[in-house]
This record gives sequence, structure tokens and C-alpha cells, in this order.
Amino acid sequence: MNTPVKPAVAAKKPQNVQKDDAMSLQKELINANYMDLATAHQQGRKVAATFVPGNLNELLMCFDFARSLPETNALQNGMRKKSGKFIMDAEREGHSEDVCTYVKSDLGMMAGGEIGPTGDPLPTPDVLLLSYTGCFTFMKWFELIRHKYGCETTMLHVPYQGEGRIEPNMRDYVVRQLKESVIPTLERVSGVKFDIDRLREYMKESAKAEEDLVAVLQSAKNRPSPIDGYFGAVYYIGPIFTAFRGSKDGTKFYRMLREEIEQRVREGKGPITPDGEMTDEKYRLIVEGPPNWTSFRDFWKMFYEEGAVVVASTYAKVGGLYDFGFRHNPDKPLESLAEYCLGCYTNLNLPSRVDMICRYMEQYEADGLLINSIKSCNSFSAGQLLILREVEKRTGKPAAFIETDLVDPRYFSAANVKNRLESYFQMVKQKRTALAA
Ligand code: SF4
Repeated sequence: MNTPVKPAVAAKKPQNVQKDDAMSLQKELINANYMDLATAHQQGRKVAATFVPGNLNELLMCFDFARSLPETNALQNGMRKKSGKFIMDAEREGHSEDVCTYVKSDLGMMAGGEIGPTGDPLPTPDVLLLSYTGCFTFMKWFELIRHKYGCETTMLHVPYQGEGRIEPNMRDYVVRQLKESVIPTLERVSGVKFDIDRLREYMKESAKAEEDLVAVLQSAKNRPSPIDGYFGAVYYIGPIFTAFRGSKDGTKFYRMLREEIEQRVREGKGPITPDGEMTDEKYRLIVEGPPNWTSFRDFWKMFYEEGAVVVASTYAKVGGLYDFGFRHNPDKPLESLAEYCLGCYTNLNLPSRVDMICRYMEQYEADGLLINSIKSCNSFSAGQLLILREVEKRTGKPAAFIETDLVDPRYFSAANVKNRLESYFQMVKQKRTALAA
């Protein structure tokens, strides 16, 4: 007789997707921001668009801008299964198959009228704030939007961390641009005078939320991990990586989330998945690369059904790298904004990324590394094979590679991904057994 296999997830609730309280609040916040955008122009407010890595949310709040994050719009459309059509519309307009699919999803959405992912109006931005943190596509993306709408643009050039460290002259260069070009443009477009004390107040809120977020992400060092540091973390990072860093709503969310997760640690519980609590942690993984959004739940399920939990991921740091100590500092507001931008994951060189992953492997006692290589994201994908080999060499733990895409449903092959994952989990098991022998 076969021994019954213990399911990794507690009894499935057939219809309702399981969410913890903070996940529900997260959804409310994100929807509230879309409502804020929808009504901004009627209320006489201006709209700014800016990218997630290196976003200067606190600064934009000083000028009362409603904030739109184009990557978030694209991923929300991906999760709602709308992006496939938008991408094909953009391709018909002449955008190549190789272009980042966030860009094509965004352009396709805009071509269809000013309607955002939630079905609410998404206004044309009054200003594009391009904080350039390592991805060349950012520049081309905003060039296209500027061309289409004639929006005002302001660019913050952030020097690449080629040597793996931030030098004082790099920070000074960014601060100078903030003073001489970015802030005057934001003042002119918004009609609001810059008040540095207002910025300081927002940054105090940012630092509190960052402290709580780090506690949440580092809770995954426990066994079992009370969170999934990739799929679950997507919900946790949403507010702080978008329009809520620096706001009281953001601070409240992270305090509540932290309390909820600390309670799970005390009770020795595993992470909440869409099918309920994960009860049998078998594999602890580090993941590099963004997730696929069009089949997000199916993708996650391939992990939790096998008892695999992601204990840390680089993607959960894409809008700010806080777990190695950086906090927004209200005593040095502009310098701190500069350091935040310089320290973004997309602005790190390959050796720094390898070091970071190796630290995660050790600190989170991971069994291995999994790389989700995204077809259209060169910023993440370039050098990933090198990362894989180097991490394997340095840690002696198995690493594997899967390929999907962000929001293009044509590039998510469920059968292929599942096959690869199953073989990888077998490999992890064998390696663990061999090491224990
Ligand atoms: S290439 Fe990657 S980092 Fe750049 S915009 Fe697209 S998804 Fe973002």
C-alpha cells in the first residue's frame, strides 16, 4: 500500500481565495490610489508618472501630485488578464516582440483610451519624473509617452554603481540635480512651493514603514517561514513601492502587517497561500527575477503544492533595498533621496547582486536558488546565468533556471515550468540527502 502523501497546504477553501487582513488592506490602498488618480484633475491636482525603482514618492507628495506608476499599471492589467490584448495592439502599432512587455502593455492600454486597470479613468500625466536607476528602457518608455502626450519631463540621472559602492561625488551629483532641475520643474508644473520640512515629515513616515517591512521580510528566517518572500511579498511591497511610502496610510499598513506576521511566528504558522495556510515546509528557496503576472496564482501554486516556500527574493527589493540598513533620513532629506536611488537593486552591478543572493542563501538557510528569467526584461536577465554559476560555486547549493514573461501570456508555458520545477525540487532533495549522509 502506498503511504499517503501529506498535503503541503491545509484544507482548501473551494471558492474564496485566502488572504490575511493586511493583504485585504493592501488591495484597498491600491484601489484608493486608482480612485485618487481618476479624480485628480477634477479636483485641480496634477498627475505625475514615475517608475518604481528610484521613485521619489515623498518628494512628489510635497507638490500634491497624484502618483501613477506605469509598471504597476501594467502588472495590474496582467493579473486581470487584460495585458495580452494591449501587447498585441502595441505590436500592431510597430513595437517589436523584443520590447519589454510592461511598455507594450502600457502603450496598448493608453491607445484604448484613458482607462486604468480597475476600469476607472487614468488621466494623462502632467509630468513624467524619470529617475534613471539602471534600466535604459525607462528612458525610451517615457520618450514614447512624452511624444504621444507632449508631457513635461524631468530626468534624474542616477550614476550606476559600477564599482559596487556609492561615492560622495555620486551622491552630490544626484542632490545637485534635485536642487537645480527636478524640484524647480515640479514647483512650476504643480504651482506648489517646495517645503523641505514637509519632505522631512514624509520621510519620518517612510523610515517607520521601512523598519516594519524589513521585520516582515526577515521573519522568513524562522522555520517554518510565516511568509512567502516572493509571491506573498508582492502584496507586502505594493504600498511602499508605489504611492504610499511616506504617507500615514502606508505606515499604518506596515505596522498592521508586522503585527500579523509576528503573531504567525509566535504560533509557528507557515505562509498564507490562495488555497489556505501552508502547513508542511519542505523546500526553502531564494528567487531572483520578477514574477509572471498573467498566471500568477497558477505559478505560485506550483510551489506551495510541493511545499516550497520562497524565503527571500531580489524582486521584493526592486523598489528599495532596506534589509541591509538603508532608511530614508529626515535629517538629510535630499542626500537620503539620492542614496535611495543609488542603492536600488536595478542600479547594482553583477558582483553586488551575487553577494546579496549568497548572503540570503546563508542567512535564510535556503536549500537553493531559482532564477525566473524574464524574456523581455534585459535589466534583470542580463548576466543571470553568470549569477547562477557563481552562486552555485560559492554556496554549493543547487540553482536552476526557468523562463517566463512579465505580462505577455504567450510566454508562460505552465507545463514546461511545472516540469522544470518538479525536477528542481527532486534535485534539491537529492542534494540535501547527500549532504546529510
Ligand atoms: S526592462 Fe525590466 S526593469 Fe526595465 S522597465 Fe521593463 S521590466 Fe522594468
